[in-house]
Amino acid sequence: MRKSSTVRLRPVALSLIEGLSRPLLLLLIISLPLSLLAQRTILHCGKLIDVSKGQVLTQYSIIVEGNKITDVQAGYTKASGTDKVIDLKDKTVMPGLIDCHVHLEDETSPNQYIQKFTFNPADYAYQSVVYAERTLQIGFTTVRDLGGTGVNISLRNAINKRLIKGPRLVTAGKSIATTGGHADPTNGYRKDLMGDPGPAAGVANGPDECRQAVRQRYKDGSDLIKITASGGVLSVAKSGENPQFTEEEIKAIVSTAKDYGFKVAAHCHGAEAMKRAVKGGVNSIEHGTHMDDETMQLMKQYGTWYVPTITAGKSVADSAKKPGYYPDLVTPKALAIGPKIQSTFGKAYKAGVKIAFGTDAGVYMHGKNWMEFVYMNEAGMPVMEAIQSATVSAADLLGMSDVIGSIEKGKLADIVAVDGDPIKDVQAMGKMKFVMKDGVVYKHE
Ligand SMILES: [Zn+2]
Repeated sequence: MRKSSTVRLRPVALSLIEGLSRPLLLLLIISLPLSLLAQRTILHCGKLIDVSKGQVLTQYSIIVEGNKITDVQAGYTKASGTDKVIDLKDKTVMPGLIDCHVHLEDETSPNQYIQKFTFNPADYAYQSVVYAERTLQIGFTTVRDLGGTGVNISLRNAINKRLIKGPRLVTAGKSIATTGGHADPTNGYRKDLMGDPGPAAGVANGPDECRQAVRQRYKDGSDLIKITASGGVLSVAKSGENPQFTEEEIKAIVSTAKDYGFKVAAHCHGAEAMKRAVKGGVNSIEHGTHMDDETMQLMKQYGTWYVPTITAGKSVADSAKKPGYYPDLVTPKALAIGPKIQSTFGKAYKAGVKIAFGTDAGVYMHGKNWMEFVYMNEAGMPVMEAIQSATVSAADLLGMSDVIGSIEKGKLADIVAVDGDPIKDVQAMGKMKFVMKDGVVYKHE
């Protein structure tokens, strides 16, 4: 079969060329070798963070061809021919940052609850374009969207087609919850509007529906599965921490997810929910607010990642102090859970739990993701390790270590640079001056 199709192709190609006018054919012949010669971009880096070794290198050059890093060389490599040089000699250069927990469709506001009734998908889509670009501009070249209406899938596709500017998006589509659970989309509605959403809408009860909900995400075009294994802060429901899936249901989700190559992220605040999720085989615990010593040991045993989201915790606690910002059921949860995440993170870090950077952007204003570095550092993690959590470690959690997460030959050219030295002053992480994603420069100040 294969042989005959190549034979057939040749006459087609020949007849196409024959159909061209002579000047056009000449132009084609002249321009071919030039276009085949890939232009090199040489980045001269004053300081370069080697996240694999946890070292800061001085005076290095990164060679980029197309969308890939083709070499990393000591010293400032001289340009030749068509080479383009980018001067980052007064900057600290590092791999593109990765946030493992964002929600690009929406952003915190006192109107967020009423928007569920007034917004059409296009309203979410237009604002997500703004949030995506803002996220890329502060140096996050890859993010994991852990739940929205499903618009986040179209957003990913538009970014991949370069119709809009945004980070590389790994998206869960719609989160999976149980009835009345944290991601049940009709929580808090009046009865005639509540209905009874099922697996297609991301609400599943019992192992069979759980498997169906995962398969629906595959059909929708999700990249991974997000479950809300415990109650949450912002849903209009009483508990912010109760377990909301049985271990049997979680196992059904994880095993089905494996069939489709999906990883599973579990939102959890309560310890019992976390234990079930870890034993059920999820890849990451999100928030982890009431993580106890036993859970930390379990996570180490199972190799489960912890994605802390300290920034969101602090932000919801602040917003809850403003009268009327959240519904009455939400305010006490935000005040109790929000401020606790940072100390939990400090304990988990010291206990040796694997940490991947994630902020829950959207629960706070998009564009401040870098504050997580400050909070992690405050809680006892050295800045180098915080940067590693947002690069090599995050890439590992995403299962993308072969293409992103470090500046190495053969990886995608996701490269960012800040003013100052973040290792000495973590505030430098907020001074993003250069952003390259997939070999394309999106910012250079
Ligand atoms: Zn979230």
